[in-house]
Amino acid sequence: MPLPKYRWRAGVEWLKLHAMETTSMTTTLGTDSPRASVREVGLRDGLQSIARTLPTPIKLQWLRAAHAAGLREIEVGSFVPPRLLPQLADTAELVREALALPGLTVSVLVPNLKGAERAIESGAHAMLLPLSASHAHSLANLRKAPDDVVREIGEIRRLRDASGSRCLLEVGMSTTFGCTIQGRVEPGEVLRLVRAVLEAGAERVGLADTVGYADPRQVRELFERAFEVARPYGEGRLACGHFHDTRGLGLANVYAAWEAGVRRFDACNGGIGGCPHAPGASGNVATEDVAYLLASMGVGTGLDFDALMTLRTSVAGWLEGEPLHGHIWRAGLPKTMRPAPAREAS
Ligand SMILES: [Zn+2]
Repeated sequence: MPLPKYRWRAGVEWLKLHAMETTSMTTTLGTDSPRASVREVGLRDGLQSIARTLPTPIKLQWLRAAHAAGLREIEVGSFVPPRLLPQLADTAELVREALALPGLTVSVLVPNLKGAERAIESGAHAMLLPLSASHAHSLANLRKAPDDVVREIGEIRRLRDASGSRCLLEVGMSTTFGCTIQGRVEPGEVLRLVRAVLEAGAERVGLADTVGYADPRQVRELFERAFEVARPYGEGRLACGHFHDTRGLGLANVYAAWEAGVRRFDACNGGIGGCPHAPGASGNVATEDVAYLLASMGVGTGLDFDALMTLRTSVAGWLEGEPLHGHIWRAGLPKTMRPAPAREAS
């Protein structure tokens, strides 16, 4: 099906967006205009839930197209043993190629200390260590209790520091809004773990709803409380919202997190990705939907909508037969769409 033509291009903002990663938003931008960043996680979160293995040259095409669309942080893969996730066995090669893309923060998932060693060796800019706030999910998924993961974070931090690497250590805390195995996850337990991982040396932590249980009120309340917990550890420690659209509340949850102060979101082009513990689940919030939502609120992201839609068409071709999700691609942008505020690149 041919795609409608879009008029909104906002791809000139990326230089400043990338600068946000290392300095504070206000000093970098010198403006009150709101900004947010999107981390594309399709090459990891998306592909790990799809059985087929995409050839490396296709992934590289995907990576470069995402970068060209203005994404300045991309999770390119995962350093898990290839026998567990053969789809992601080429992560080291993807990191190597991604490091050549200007202004890109290259991020990888690491399941444990061994994975962290490989991430540091690869030269990736950031590593994301998953931790399940749900005890039952943690045992099922990681075969470790949450506090064992906290201890491992301490070890990874020591390893990272001793190696002289500057690979940023981020924790992605999943099942923070509920769990398919144990049901309710106490907010107090989530907050305890946020504090524990920051104490252990994590430099950033994000809250994730990988199973699609979160609702906007819960998201707003938990993020507000988590910001309080994280504040004493320094600005920007609580740094990401990760939502799946399993029950249709993905974008509502992004909005609720934005309202609570979150300025960085994970998303997958085409809304791909699921969760082995949430059967039938639709995927992550779609990058193009999140770009549209933020732009509709006048929030600059540096993302080029046309380029995101072209990439979506490519992804649909590469993953033919796999369900894609998301909304904005069906009808295209409304005529009333406000372009993101124009700004000169610095
Ligand atoms: Zn996810």
